[in-house]
Amino acid sequence: MRRHDLHTHTNFSDGRFSPEDLVQLAREKKLKILGICDHAFSKKLLDSYQITTRLEEYLRHLETIQKSLNGLMLRIGIEIDVSKNYGVDPALLPVDILNQFDFVLFEYVNTASEYWGKVGRRSHMEVISIRNQLEIPVGLAHNDIQQNYQGKEAEISKILAQNEIFIELQQSERGRNTRNGMDYYNHFSQRLIHSLVENGVRIVCGTDTHTGEFLGELDDVYQFISQNNLQYHELVM
Ligand SMILES: [Zn+2]
Repeated sequence: MRRHDLHTHTNFSDGRFSPEDLVQLAREKKLKILGICDHAFSKKLLDSYQITTRLEEYLRHLETIQKSLNGLMLRIGIEIDVSKNYGVDPALLPVDILNQFDFVLFEYVNTASEYWGKVGRRSHMEVISIRNQLEIPVGLAHNDIQQNYQGKEAEISKILAQNEIFIELQQSERGRNTRNGMDYYNHFSQRLIHSLVENGVRIVCGTDTHTGEFLGELDDVYQFISQNNLQYHELVM
């Protein structure tokens, strides 16, 4: 595994830094891989704070940066809200342009509510129904899997593995995605961890940083992954 942060935001959506400045910060923090995945297809945010109507512009801009880098690798991602209340029906997504990205993260899969309110549960089956049209790596952003799949740990692990859907373990900036003050991965039961390992579900790490402040600060997650023999996704190898 190379030191990475695969979940970050820039001022293309609601992040503080430009992509160029975030790249510079990633260098200073000695990251090997930076994943930028700005928001899209969400009613949570104004159009000017997401890339939904500017996918081409975003892609071309990040591709130009990507080509100019050495030492640090940039992965171009997109974070898509699939909640029932705020997000998009996956069947309506523009798959052709999505296939030009390096990866996609779906947020709020099978999630009834988040720490800030109800989001509306959309089953993972709706995401899986378009999975075979996506030729790029697909993952779940900061999913509270233990709560969302309580009692179905083995079943969901098998489904994720069979459909090549990775999960992001997030050490979140300022407790952004937490339950009872703990990052979601810290709620994972032994049963869930065992199922993820047994089925070979792949993992990436992210902070969901919007300010750059905690960019790449993922040592606790790295330790959790190695202690539990979880496997990283090739995106971060
Ligand atoms: Zn995010």
